[in-house]
Amino acid sequence: MLDKILAAIEAHDTIIIHRHVRPDPDALGSQMGLKAVLEETYPHKYIYAVGQDDDSLAEFGDMDDVSDDTYKQALVIVNDSANRPRIDDQRYKKGATLVKVDHHPNEDPYGDFMIVEPSISSTSELWASIVLREDNKLQMNDEAAKCFFLGIVGDTGRFLYDNTTRDTMHIAGELLNYDFPASDLMQESNTQTISQARLQAYVLQNMKLSAQGTVNSVYISQDLLQSLDLTANETYQIVQIPGTIEGVITWVTFIEQPDGKVRCRIRSKGPAINHIAAQHDGGGHEKASGANVYSSEEKDELLAQLGEVAMKYRRDQFFD
Ligand code: AMP
Repeated sequence: MLDKILAAIEAHDTIIIHRHVRPDPDALGSQMGLKAVLEETYPHKYIYAVGQDDDSLAEFGDMDDVSDDTYKQALVIVNDSANRPRIDDQRYKKGATLVKVDHHPNEDPYGDFMIVEPSISSTSELWASIVLREDNKLQMNDEAAKCFFLGIVGDTGRFLYDNTTRDTMHIAGELLNYDFPASDLMQESNTQTISQARLQAYVLQNMKLSAQGTVNSVYISQDLLQSLDLTANETYQIVQIPGTIEGVITWVTFIEQPDGKVRCRIRSKGPAINHIAAQHDGGGHEKASGANVYSSEEKDELLAQLGEVAMKYRRDQFFD
């Protein structure tokens, strides 16, 4: 399959790279890293990255404006997007050839060619490993290494989560051979505004344990966000906080959106929770998923479902 994708890259003069909506460092890292690789390898091709700009992740650079006409002869590569509705810029289907490259469970296979590797930490690691291995066909440069490295750092929680493998460390080490200020960039991503710090304080004060302390959750309303002058997108730094409490196995951050629906960011230290997310307009990885709930009853139902898997997991651990 990789050979076919490399041949498609070779055959098209215009390549447009997409990723998922509300991008995180892996979505942008894999998108902009691949853009830098293709620009380095093929200086005469037209390479574009599309989607909404996100000011909170400006270190990855700006998106390109691409006309509908540009899609006609283009190869479209969609990175890090498990399902079609979550692809940023739905014109992805207007290209001549479509490729999916992802590391989520392949619940919505799409495209003429696909590489989907759920066992790999991030789409950035997946592309970095391809580029480093195929160094006679694709060329890494400093910018690409920076983007892939930050994508890996993002999706592994700075190498904390159990998706961090020996290969992840090896590839991150290879990327550090290139010239970019890794430590400065990580320090920067660890810096927050005073409003974001106050939001963290709110989370610590208001998180609620349930299911005998195995589930933790916090609800962030639009009123709270407005009082702190924050947008829903600026809440990413609180996602891990409820999981730092002793005994907690699964946790969820409920974030009310301007349109009234409530986005859920669900995490687990043990049991799979993506099947629960899938029942609430969501999906994702086994231990990191997203969903949406539309009433307080549905919110309670989601918490009860998390409680069931968390308590079962705790029982199984105990009798192991
Ligand atoms: P997040 O909580 O937004 O960081 O998302 C965690 C994981 O779940 C990511 O890998 C997302 O791709 C996935 N995800 C988030 N929201 C949804 C959704 N509504 N539907 C399907 N997958 C989602």
